[in-house]
Amino acid sequence: MILCYTINVAVAGSDRAGKEGRFMLKGKVAVVTGGTRGIGFEVVRKYLANGAKVVLFGSRQESVDKALKQLKEENAEWEVEGKFPKLTDAAEVEKAILEVKDKFGKIDILVNNAGISQSTPLYDYKAEEFDKVIDLNVKAVFYAILPAAKIMKEQGGGCIINTSSMVSISGQPAGVGYPASKFAVNGLTISLARELGRDNIRVNAVAPGVTKTDMVAALPEQVVQRISAGIPIGRPGEPEEVADAFLYLASDMASYVTGEILSVDGASKA
Ligand code: NAD
Repeated sequence: MILCYTINVAVAGSDRAGKEGRFMLKGKVAVVTGGTRGIGFEVVRKYLANGAKVVLFGSRQESVDKALKQLKEENAEWEVEGKFPKLTDAAEVEKAILEVKDKFGKIDILVNNAGISQSTPLYDYKAEEFDKVIDLNVKAVFYAILPAAKIMKEQGGGCIINTSSMVSISGQPAGVGYPASKFAVNGLTISLARELGRDNIRVNAVAPGVTKTDMVAALPEQVVQRISAGIPIGRPGEPEEVADAFLYLASDMASYVTGEILSVDGASKA
């Protein structure tokens, strides 16, 4: 009787804490770009809590130091380091990725999460603005994948997860560079899944809906309200809910999942 009760409690309690308790990424080495705040920061926390060693990439020394301090305060035993290569510079990114391999001996997981959004109407658009979005959201993803995939092939496998968006499916009514960049991320993801499958490298993307981060805080209030009103589940997502999808895709539970764009959007784009 007591045994049954214990099992029931364990099953009923298989929530986020339970998943983290199973150390789904024990022994894995992960690189997470844009890991200093928002969705990326929650991915870093979740990976660390599940036994991975993580190197987070940020844009500035100060934001990297702040994130590392916060993580170390939460758990001094977590193995986490930070770097701030210029992600739009292929040579800098390659150098940083190779340094991770030299230090930890391998790279099991690459999360391409750094990204910028904007909502400029077409008639006000400047060419440079379009370039800026594509440079970070698309080219930088490719720059990180190139050296990481070579390392993964050499070591017998790995896993790449890109951050897409629900607008990669639905488009958006202004700021065309952003959805265009995320459509490209989906293209990279699906094509590379097909190309790299034989090297035992899985390539997936997570497509968040409106998620409560600085990126959303930067949008005009009426834009956020309009978007939120259209979310069938009735609220924006939390960064932790999105990070759960990154945990699943990085784990062995997703060992036969590749080329997938996993929506975490409360059915927003439906
Ligand atoms: P955020 O603004 O909170 O974080 C963005 C991250 O990217 C930060 O860590 C930042 O340091 C990094 N970054 C930005 N510019 C950079 C640069 N030039 N060089 C290096 N790093 C840079 O945003 P977020 O909401 O956490 O977004 C993370 C990812 O999720 C992005 O790819 C974004 O497109 C995607 N996304 C977010 C939402 C949302 O509603 N928040 C929805 C769909 C997709």
